[in-house]
This record gives sequence, C-alpha cells and structure tokens, in this order.
Amino acid sequence: MTEEVGKYFMQQYNKAKFRVVPGHWPDFESKEEVDAWIEAIGSITLVLADNSTTRKYCPRCKNEEIRLTDNYCKICGLKLED
Ligand SMILES: [Zn+2]
Repeated sequence: MTEEVGKYFMQQYNKAKFRVVPGHWPDFESKEEVDAWIEAIGSITLVLADNSTTRKYCPRCKNEEIRLTDNYCKICGLKLED
C-alpha cells in the first residue's frame, strides 16, 4: 500500500465505529479498496451488535427502554411476548 493510501486508510479507520487487531487489514492498493473494506467490516459489525443487543422496543409505542426481562411495556402497558 502506498503512503497516500495508508494515510487515507488510517483516516477512514479512525472515523469508523469498529476496531480490528492492528495490522489485520489487507494490503490496500487504492482508496476504493479501503472504502469497500471499511464498509464491509462496518456492516458485519453492525449485524453482530444487533444480535447481542440486550434491549428490544415496544411495537406499539416504540418505547426503546425495554429490557429482555420485561414482560410488558412500562409506557403503554402492552404485554410483550418473549
Ligand atoms: Zn409501549
């Protein structure tokens, strides 16, 4: 990877919401490759984050302050299923 692409990668990586083990990224040849990689890893990370979420939201009032252990919505009283 050229110095220019390396700098671009670090800029994009620092803006990204995920971290990988340092050095565990491809040897990018272009800024387009950097963008594609950042986007791919970012979307994978998003999916993993969704699966590990400990909260759900109320389908009626969209209250998001519901924990998985709650069996009804504290705002609108809707009974929630597991
Ligand atoms: Zn509700």
